[in-house]
Amino acid sequence: MLDFEVALAQLLAQARVATRTELLPLTAARGRVLAHDVIAPINVPGFDNSSMDGYALHIPVAAPATTHFQITQRIAAGAVGHALAAGEAARIFTGAPIPAGANAVVMQEHCTLAGEALQLAAPVPLGANIRRIGEDVHHGQVVLRAGQRLSPAMLGLAASLGIAQLTVFAPLRVALLSSGDELVEPGQPLPAGKIYNANRYTLLAQLQALGCELVDLGVIPDQFDATVAALAAAAEQCDILLTSGGVSVGEEDHIKAAVQYLGELNLWKIAIKPGKPFAYGRIGNADFIGLPGNPVSALVTYLMLVRPFMLARQGASELAPPRMTLPADFELKRAGDRREFFRARRNPAGQVSLFAHQGSAVLTSLVWAEGLVDIPAGTTVQRGDPVAFIPLSALEG
Ligand code: AMP
Ligand code: MG
Repeated sequence: MLDFEVALAQLLAQARVATRTELLPLTAARGRVLAHDVIAPINVPGFDNSSMDGYALHIPVAAPATTHFQITQRIAAGAVGHALAAGEAARIFTGAPIPAGANAVVMQEHCTLAGEALQLAAPVPLGANIRRIGEDVHHGQVVLRAGQRLSPAMLGLAASLGIAQLTVFAPLRVALLSSGDELVEPGQPLPAGKIYNANRYTLLAQLQALGCELVDLGVIPDQFDATVAALAAAAEQCDILLTSGGVSVGEEDHIKAAVQYLGELNLWKIAIKPGKPFAYGRIGNADFIGLPGNPVSALVTYLMLVRPFMLARQGASELAPPRMTLPADFELKRAGDRREFFRARRNPAGQVSLFAHQGSAVLTSLVWAEGLVDIPAGTTVQRGDPVAFIPLSALEG
């Protein structure tokens, strides 16, 4: 059996990075991978401005403890004031430019007014409540790097710099096929011996969240010729061909043989649970990835192996799922030889608990779970021991 890290490294080594790019408006760029560094064309803030609603003061430098000022102007956000002389103040609002001469802003809550006379409760330190030009971003600074996946905050940052469009890698075209004569689509009656196709929907949703262009090809029957025909046609239309089922050792598993016939195949028995059978290969110019059929195995292997591969293929620089260390609210006495990803949840005390049924077909475990606990082969865990927890929420986009 292949070690998980070795399998992942071998898979990532095959990930040819996308080269096609496209220019997208910010409103369409969420989740896409940036193809170039972004350099700030301006300073942010673009000018010294007030961080408070209050009064901009010209505190005489020779008398910094001054508490009496005369209000001579009013500056709203978007307006521009004029220079203040020593001892003068301007009514000012958050975001409004600091007028020439002003050297501090006092919060309105910290002063009293009598007509145009302003009295401070206490002296104000020089520089107080002024946001300085370029304090957040300075002109020429690299603010975003090629390979970053665009988050809402990154899009806002680009907008704050006046950038309306970003160059991102073109989406991967991914064809999805499910295999199995037992599969029936939801919404249809369920004949004896059949089951509903679950993997098509978990995987389509995952691929959609990654921004892939989907070629949804439905179900392949368990026949060699039909499988060859379906895979050959699919490979023409996509960068990556993803299947579920049909890659284990039963004689009804035709996907392996069909991929071998059409291209090349590496069939891996990866030492992980759930999800031992996993296939990687090529058909023509398309990558082929065959996931196990059991719904939990299919989704866990997708998350732990295929998602990083997709991200790498898409030009992303951060591939590994984020993980945290949390105390276990369970005990495990194991001598297993497979690394195991348990469906888990944090309890109110901040420890992780495991779902009672960890079977590879028990999809309710993944609905209940907030994350996966990653336990190396052969590990014994005592209650309170630190364990690695991978939040699922981070993998749903
Ligand atoms: P296989 O890898 O084809 O032997 O499938 C392993 C198990 O997963 C079998 O119990 C299949 O019925 C089940 N399975 C395969 N594909 C799907 C699917 N798309 N949705 C739900 N269960 C599936
Ligand atoms: Mg099957």
